[in-house]
Amino acid sequence: MGKVYLIGAGPGDPELLTLKAARLLDCAGVVLHDALVSEGVLARIAPTAEIINVGKRAGQKLLTQDEINALLVSCGRTRATVVRLKGGDPTVFGRAGEEIEALRRAGIEYEIVPGISAALGAAAAAGISLTDRRVASQIVFATFSRGIEGSVMDWGCVTSTTTLVLYMPGADYTEVSERLLGGGLPADLPCVIVSQATGAQQKVRWSNVGKLASEEKLAAPALLIVGRVASHDVEELSAKFWDTSRSDRILPRTSVI
Ligand code: SAH
Repeated sequence: MGKVYLIGAGPGDPELLTLKAARLLDCAGVVLHDALVSEGVLARIAPTAEIINVGKRAGQKLLTQDEINALLVSCGRTRATVVRLKGGDPTVFGRAGEEIEALRRAGIEYEIVPGISAALGAAAAAGISLTDRRVASQIVFATFSRGIEGSVMDWGCVTSTTTLVLYMPGADYTEVSERLLGGGLPADLPCVIVSQATGAQQKVRWSNVGKLASEEKLAAPALLIVGRVASHDVEELSAKFWDTSRSDRILPRTSVI
């Protein structure tokens, strides 16, 4: 029996791999990877390793989740070092839960090696601080996409000092804008779309919740950072709230929710 490593490949730039991930890629016997894993990261896999793409190709799933689970288990039984390589961090919208459960049930040893999630790569690309203390007190990682995750956005946790990071926003920005407005976010709340963060084709588009509907679509993968931290002039904007002469340093609530 071998060991299965669920490894985060980070958002694209291979230099953002952890040392541990790089070491394991270098000694893996077999690597099962998702479509999101960048070419630069794949190039770091040992030449002797068997590489299996279990992700999507041209929008078509190559393997179902059950098939991936079964393949992981069978590799874990027959190979010494098995790497399951996922974009970003394996535990963030990465279906790691189902794979871990399959490995546990089969009694196969596993270890999770964290990676830099796309939210963090995107914040770095846009040059913003996700928890800028002058305007934000919490980060919410969310998605509208349902499917097997069965997630429905819980607007209860979104306040005027929330930074909302929307994974898998989809191609229809009009719908995204409508859903954000429908959740109670103000039309003038800043947002930024980051496409292919940390990769050579990285793009950053500054917008707001209302204008988002008319923005040109950026290439996948892309995510959205919504909140006052996404303001170009966050410093200017917050200066008036962060006046040292004020006794109350509590940020006024905007019209959010
Ligand atoms: N486990 C991954 C997320 C998988 S869900 C992580 O932790 O990052 C896939 C979504 O992640 C994409 O639809 C997109 O919204 C986001 N994403 C992944 N890589 C990205 C990148 N380089 N730039 C922008 N968004 C990215």
